[in-house]
Amino acid sequence: MKSWLKTQLIAKYSTTMSLVAIIIVIIMAMCFSLFSHYFAKVQLSSTLNTISSDLIDNYTTTIGDYQSFIKPIVKNISFDCGSRDQKYIEKLAYNNYYIRKIDIETNDNQHCSSFDSNKTEFNSMSVFIKRLDKNLSLWSTLNNTNEQSILSLIWKGERGQVIIHFEPIISDVIRNKYCDNCILSVISTADNTNKKTYSYNDAKSLLKSPPITTEVFSNGLVLSNYVDPKLLSIISMDLKPLLFFIGGVLGFIVFLLLNFYIKRKLSLHSLIEKGITRKEFIPYFQPIVNVNSNRMYGCEVLVRWWFNKKELISPDDFIPYAEKSGLIIDITDVLLEKTLIQLSSLNWKNSSAIISINLVPEQLEDKQHMRKVVDLIIKSSILPKQIAFEITERMSFTDIDKAASVIDYLKAQGINVKLDDAGTGYGSFSYIQNLNLQSLKIDKMFVDMIGTHDHKLFVLDSIIAFGKKAGMEMIAEGVETKQQSDYLLQHGVYLQQGFYFSEPLKFEQFSRYFKQDQK
Ligand code: C2E
Ligand code: CA
Ligand code: CA
Repeated sequence: MKSWLKTQLIAKYSTTMSLVAIIIVIIMAMCFSLFSHYFAKVQLSSTLNTISSDLIDNYTTTIGDYQSFIKPIVKNISFDCGSRDQKYIEKLAYNNYYIRKIDIETNDNQHCSSFDSNKTEFNSMSVFIKRLDKNLSLWSTLNNTNEQSILSLIWKGERGQVIIHFEPIISDVIRNKYCDNCILSVISTADNTNKKTYSYNDAKSLLKSPPITTEVFSNGLVLSNYVDPKLLSIISMDLKPLLFFIGGVLGFIVFLLLNFYIKRKLSLHSLIEKGITRKEFIPYFQPIVNVNSNRMYGCEVLVRWWFNKKELISPDDFIPYAEKSGLIIDITDVLLEKTLIQLSSLNWKNSSAIISINLVPEQLEDKQHMRKVVDLIIKSSILPKQIAFEITERMSFTDIDKAASVIDYLKAQGINVKLDDAGTGYGSFSYIQNLNLQSLKIDKMFVDMIGTHDHKLFVLDSIIAFGKKAGMEMIAEGVETKQQSDYLLQHGVYLQQGFYFSEPLKFEQFSRYFKQDQK
């Protein structure tokens, strides 16, 4: 069934799913590229933040605190703008990456500079930031050429003043890559919100929108980066192909997850679950014959799946999974309920026939569940002593003591437990001993060996010998020929089940068989 089902489901599936995959990939790819403006903003702010932080870190370690920085410098200046002063400030500016320019203005109106002879104008574009001590103050100035805010330190003494202009904070890398004058870095203090000071020409438009990043440094300065929307558009266009690709890949991952989910939904597991809810599991009955009397000893209930009420599925296709996943518990409940209703209708309790139902160890270890099962049996018109459970030794018990106590409870109710598939699995002898079992079913595997010289025939003989010695009731299953039946009978196994007598029958057929047998 699994393969049959799979072909049915997968055929329908793969065409739909390929289409779904393409749609999801395209939608995700488009969504991602639609958000390119947002990602551009994120990318730019993160770049600006990193650069600003790096620069500020270096700046702080190189310049240190302003007072200690300026002190030795002032000491070395003669305030005469002579060649010694000139050389000194040129060297200082040259050697320090963060110093752009140093100006000296003497009290007798002399002026000299490390860079050019232009006198620095502190005009409307300059902002007084703070006074650091009686000689020292910090200013921020917008630089005319690139509109970056730069820091200026002014030391004013009796002999004149020294003005140190630092390099602007923001790296040229960003500006040069995309556009000129599209990033404006403004240094201010937290309480200085008077932007008017900066507002001139191009800078005016940049300052219209809020800064893209704002960083507050330990010395109280605030660095804000204003960005031209044009720049964001350029970066956003740059990012579009990459985002389209990432969106596509993520779309594909989403598709894979969805596919996994849907496949699971359509998997055997969910189909069985659906089958349980719809009560699609029905009992078939295979007679067990007492060959001595040629009468029916009882029957084994074998489950069939009436899938979608269209297809009859044999247990080999779903029982192994149902047992592994635990779904067998619910299947058995459905099966038991139907069995009890159907066999009650045959007036079963007036016969001495046994109904054998297959259970897995897990079910036998759950006393609470077994109590419910017993209640269900008691409520029906079938007598508990007419019920037997077959417990397969293909699977192991996890708690043999629990199982033993449940089996004792069942016995007390009159319900017998048989060891199924004896000799094929985990521990026939230990189970018989520990669980105190009195019946065993000899698996078809051994019955098949009758008439051959296979060594398994010795196993069959040994099982029979053991069963006899232990005084156990033995049922041979899978009896297909007269030769097998005779051999078993000669060896004392007179309870037999197999195609030689009857295949598993659906209720209508079994009911005829039963009525015939009861005559
Ligand atoms: P099993 O308990 O050993 O049941 C006997 C299986 O042998 C049945 O197969 C039966 O149809 C088949 N059989 C009986 N006589 C002959 C024969 O002469 N020749 C051949 N070739 N086969 C014969 P089925 O019904 O297909 O069930 C297969 C297995 O599925 C069962 O083996 C049992 O282990 C499991 N099973 C069936 N119903 C249930 C159930 O309700 N609960 C659980 N846990 N397992 C079940
Ligand atoms: Ca069985
Ligand atoms: Ca078997």
